[in-house]
Amino acid sequence: MGEGELYIDGLWARASAGGRREVVNPYDASVVTTVAEADAGDVDRAVRAARRAFDDGEWAGSPTRRRADLLRRVHDLLLRDREEIARTETLDTGKTLAEARIDVEDVANTFRYFGELAGKDGGRVVDVGPDVLSRVVYEPIGVCALIAPWNYPLLQASWKVAPALAAGNTFVLKPSEVTPLTTIAMIRLIEEAGAPPGVANLVLGSGATVGAALTGHPGVDLVSFTGGLATGRSIMAEAAGGPKNIALELGGKNPNVVFADADFDAAVDNALNAAFLHSGQVCSAGSRLIVEDALHDRFVDVLARRAGAIRLGDGMADGTESGPLSSAGHREKVERLIAVGREEGARLVTGGGRPADPALGRGFFLEPTVFADCDRSMRIVQEEVFGPVVTVERFGTEDEAVALANDTRYGLAGGVWTSDASRAQRVARRLRHGTVWINDFHPYVPQAEWGGFGESGVGRELGPTGLREYQEAKHIYQNL
Ligand code: NAD
Repeated sequence: MGEGELYIDGLWARASAGGRREVVNPYDASVVTTVAEADAGDVDRAVRAARRAFDDGEWAGSPTRRRADLLRRVHDLLLRDREEIARTETLDTGKTLAEARIDVEDVANTFRYFGELAGKDGGRVVDVGPDVLSRVVYEPIGVCALIAPWNYPLLQASWKVAPALAAGNTFVLKPSEVTPLTTIAMIRLIEEAGAPPGVANLVLGSGATVGAALTGHPGVDLVSFTGGLATGRSIMAEAAGGPKNIALELGGKNPNVVFADADFDAAVDNALNAAFLHSGQVCSAGSRLIVEDALHDRFVDVLARRAGAIRLGDGMADGTESGPLSSAGHREKVERLIAVGREEGARLVTGGGRPADPALGRGFFLEPTVFADCDRSMRIVQEEVFGPVVTVERFGTEDEAVALANDTRYGLAGGVWTSDASRAQRVARRLRHGTVWINDFHPYVPQAEWGGFGESGVGRELGPTGLREYQEAKHIYQNL
């Protein structure tokens, strides 16, 4: 790790006060390594470095071709180091190696996409008349504070870092204190790809100290945050004081609607993947199944049997289908919500506890859990659990299905299962969610926007809008 794990002004540094934090493997609670724990002084140095690098204009004013080339090199380097980075992600998060490998490829593609987009983005000419040249150009915003969560540490960071760089900004990135390792690797690759000193900066540490110092810093022009609703609210309130530009990707309580005419096997397979991918620690997890009456009992029966058979284990091992939760504290939070579900009268069909297998005893495992006979008044149906827990509600008519699916403060994503193509499109348009999958769940592409309606967030990542979040529009009007 060279001179330390903070990256400030082109140098790897230790925390100025000497702080260290343990990084824990959630599979067996062992300590993987320790990393620097920054403080507000380190954050201040990082923001000042980013400010200087932005103001000197070398990066912000560089031709888009140069930025596109840098992002392309990062793409290539990520693929070069794919296996090592995927292994690190599995150690840090507990997710399976197969999932981590896909994450790294997706991250590489995100860099490539935003590099190509920046290279093509020529702004707009507005036709005012023959005597006027009116152009809208897009310029970088300035210094970006980028805050990422622990469930997809590398992926979520890349959705911010790649467009921020493509647009010509400088940034200070803070990953989650729970999972910092692959972000360090990514910043090393950005350095290797040739980013000038001060353009990319990395600080590590707690949200309360390092995160708050970063989002509250007066030298920051934009805050882009992915994480929980409560944290997002406090960051937005803080940003109002600037005011600073803000983008928020928050939680979800995502419906997965299954009509009786759906392909049964595909719907069950995908309902399992929707709910239990990465032990349900996915913002777009299909954690609310909404199943048509005629199919309901059979669906719940097969779903529960299949959920009970998911092979839990070490993400590094072949054959493991699902890993542990990210931390002991997070598992306790999920267990409290499972207890609430039971008290509310939801019917526990499978799971609900820690696995009996002694080989899993040291890790932060929980059994895949299915609650049936749920209704919209229950907290287990309304609150984001962010764990391996799915609730099942039932419906009779299409209108009822849509009403249940939209009955949430969130609005991140949803799924529709039916063999009726016109119904699929009709229902998709009526859902108040940022992404709707039809006869599928979870895929995304960097070319298409990602983000939430309602309390799932403000703004969009990915796609052309995801680049615009990091740009100011400027109108240049010239009398000829
Ligand atoms: P969190 O809100 O606890 O933390 C997210 C990040 O914010 C971490 O880096 C943390 O250190 C930092 N932070 C915490 N308090 C802060 C403060 N006061 N000021 C500045 N930074 C602060 O969230 P988490 O538990 O890491 O992540 C899980 C949440 O993230 C879930 O709610 C999930 O739905 C959401 N999420 C959303 C998306 C999306 O695309 N919408 C993607 C992934 C995760």
